[in-house]
Amino acid sequence: MDDGSTKASSSNAAPDRTPLSPDTENKNFLRSSLKKGNFICTAELVLGRDHNAGEAETFVKEAAQNGINVISLTDLPGGNPALPPEAFVSYVLEHGLTPIAHLTGKDGNRSLLEGRLHALARQGVENILALTGDAQKSGLGGKAKPVYDLDSVLMLWLIRSLRDGVEYNVGTRTAHTTPFSFYAGAVVNPFKIREPDLMMQLYKLQLKVAVGAEYIITQLGYNLRKLYELKQYMDREGMGHVPVLANIYVPTAKVAQMMQAGEVAGCVVTDELIKRLEKEKKPQRLERAALMVAAVQDLGFAGAHIGGFGLTCRDFLTLRERAAEIGRDWRNHIDELVFPAPGEFYLLPPNGDGLSRRNGEYQVTRLKPRASFSQRMSEMVHRYFIKDGSFGARFFKARIAVTPQQNGDASWRHGFWYKLLEPASLYRKATLGCVGCGDCLQDHLNYAGCSMRWCYKELRNGPCGGSRVDGTCEAHPDLPCIWNLVYLGTLAVGDDPQKFAHVLVPPRDWCLDKTNALANRFVGLDNLCKRTEVAVPCKTASTNAKLNESSITNNEDTSPYADHR
Ligand code: SF4
Repeated sequence: MDDGSTKASSSNAAPDRTPLSPDTENKNFLRSSLKKGNFICTAELVLGRDHNAGEAETFVKEAAQNGINVISLTDLPGGNPALPPEAFVSYVLEHGLTPIAHLTGKDGNRSLLEGRLHALARQGVENILALTGDAQKSGLGGKAKPVYDLDSVLMLWLIRSLRDGVEYNVGTRTAHTTPFSFYAGAVVNPFKIREPDLMMQLYKLQLKVAVGAEYIITQLGYNLRKLYELKQYMDREGMGHVPVLANIYVPTAKVAQMMQAGEVAGCVVTDELIKRLEKEKKPQRLERAALMVAAVQDLGFAGAHIGGFGLTCRDFLTLRERAAEIGRDWRNHIDELVFPAPGEFYLLPPNGDGLSRRNGEYQVTRLKPRASFSQRMSEMVHRYFIKDGSFGARFFKARIAVTPQQNGDASWRHGFWYKLLEPASLYRKATLGCVGCGDCLQDHLNYAGCSMRWCYKELRNGPCGGSRVDGTCEAHPDLPCIWNLVYLGTLAVGDDPQKFAHVLVPPRDWCLDKTNALANRFVGLDNLCKRTEVAVPCKTASTNAKLNESSITNNEDTSPYADHR
């Protein structure tokens, strides 16, 4: 698919972004439907481990004959080996359908991800769903090595950069990659049942939209009230124009049990739902899903992202037809749509209709958690010795200043003042679990714990969606999700956790690995001066503020989803 904006790949000229022609726009059924405000049902196809994907091919063939227009293709789901989407998109395109290629950061570093995006662009794939990816589970000969070089937010940043073309050097010449008009989407998990998990999800969603997510697909879930609250939050926080597709997954009792046991990351499944599923056959399960499709359409969602183990094309069509018949009658079946977990946190107070009060106040805690001793100590050291303008910062900056020419030369790391800072690394290791990345973001995390050490996915811009219902890590059920501790730690020192919705932390610079983070901070080599303050672009203007480099801006959007329906 030609996006009408291609240029010679080695051009010296700065790239422009040419708007899509109406013809190209129409070829992308997802983009054109969402722009027009037409409710859309997309089908999720889980690609398995074998290159012989007969079942997936049958689904696509039948979909093409039955008016299912958009197929989303998973990327090594569940942390297992599988066929990647780029191996199957051409089959989808050949059948006249629009693919959404999932792209996760768990198996490849930023170079491979960039290469995969070019591969997708070559095949004419515009729709990308950027995900951090599940924790690794298996691989030939043992569990695979986790990569996680870029989190989902940084993948959106990469996609955005490629959309405009990336500048690079070929010897003494400057070149640009050919711009490609990706249509980038992101995921949010609104079903979290504890305040820290939920709020950090919502803040990260804001960050994703600010960095370039143009549509959102939710995690699967069985609580319509949570979906309703997500829409309310998005409307209130200036994201009402961003189309949201609710992920509607039709589970069997067995799959639901696996979800509840944490074998499918980030799912909330209650005992009550499992009890009902155990008594049901497929028609009842499809009926519940149809109710959900009808409900989300009525509540202003842009579409339904439908999936389920063993779901055939016929099931998909039945579900869609039933949803149309149900229409607004879903309100009489709210007990099939809201499965609350005991003690669950809701952002808004309850309403009489089983959902939440639309204009209610956010119920975020007013309690102040206590900061740990090491957190208080580190904050104090930061204030007097590390923070820009502090006594310590002025003293050391004057002594270990590095000129740009010296950056490539490591001799300054052998000097007296650099050596004098070495005990700082020991302190970080002892109190924060520092792994010596040399590109520290502890000040951003209010010294609540190092995400390079305590987060399995080494995330730098907020949590993945995988934390368990008790707030522990998807990959390490014996450890709390570090981002929950960061949320509480941020409140404990009187800072505002909303900052996690507005500050984009750049990817870790591996040049700094195993070097002294404090020295890197004093000479300006670490991420501090590369952090960017971003804001959700409003419907009519780009509002992003800029701290350092080129501002991240989104297109003016005239989406129909801005108004609450
Ligand atoms: S610590 Fe939290 S964000 Fe990191 S992998 Fe575990 S659940 Fe995900």
